[in-house]
Amino acid sequence: YDDRDGKIWLDGALVDWRDAKVHILTHALHYASSVFEGERCYDGKVFKGHEHSLRLIESGRLLEMEVPYSAEEIDAAKEAVLKANGLENAYLRVVAWRGSGLDMGVSARRNPVRMAVAAWEWGSYYGDAKWQGAKLDVARWKRPSPDTIPTAAKAAGLYMICTMSKHAAEAKGYSDALFMDWRGYVAEATGANIFFVKDGEVHTPLADAILNGITRQTVIQMLKDQGVTVHERHIKPEELDGFQECWLTGSAAEVTPVGQIGDWHFQVGQMTRKVAEDYEKLVRA
Ligand code: PMP
Repeated sequence: YDDRDGKIWLDGALVDWRDAKVHILTHALHYASSVFEGERCYDGKVFKGHEHSLRLIESGRLLEMEVPYSAEEIDAAKEAVLKANGLENAYLRVVAWRGSGLDMGVSARRNPVRMAVAAWEWGSYYGDAKWQGAKLDVARWKRPSPDTIPTAAKAAGLYMICTMSKHAAEAKGYSDALFMDWRGYVAEATGANIFFVKDGEVHTPLADAILNGITRQTVIQMLKDQGVTVHERHIKPEELDGFQECWLTGSAAEVTPVGQIGDWHFQVGQMTRKVAEDYEKLVRA
């Protein structure tokens, strides 16, 4: 991803893709002082772009790191990147981090907070097999308690165990991993939220220790508007036996059907298909 043509927005200006670099003593590289967003642009419009900009600022606040741009400025940076790269349908990555400079240690108050926006074409998150249903491994790591780390932030530090769990899953032939949380409840995948269907009603983990995804919130509202009952609650792994359908949601993952989690199997059923199709329509509406 580093050696190609294009423009990246870095600290207020568009720079050549190849020149969007940071110093090796960047605080974020050593101490995970970084927050980010993953978003998609459909037919020239960033879906819920402003909500993503606000979440980036909020994630920074949760890390006591002030993102030095307003949500409107972040929105404008995204527009500039899409335009400069001639993109109408794209994935966007916005990242803010503590840079290098005056401090090199755990404390880094005097280092500037920096921000970058990049965008590129990115198709289906789980590839062509989407409609066969993703196969999920059960992660050996647990999502941590909100007393341990600010779980509501979309922050780099929360992804260390995501990469480890996803690598372990891929090595076993799965496409992703599902985490339980520190209490043992079903939590989320490494980059997506999870939903289940039982007898026409929808069940999804309560967002008390997971990222309350923007897609998750969108899909819950969409279902409620259609008169579907949605239960946001604690879900025990043994309940997976009784669920008929399952899907993941995320800005990158969109609505991805799940066919298997460990030894549990699900059908890519009617409700899953409808939610995926309705979401596809909504993002381009
Ligand atoms: N959980 C995790 C751990 C994620 O990384 C993501 C992707 N941002 C999600 C859930 C889904 O969030 P969203 O719908 O806002 O993309």
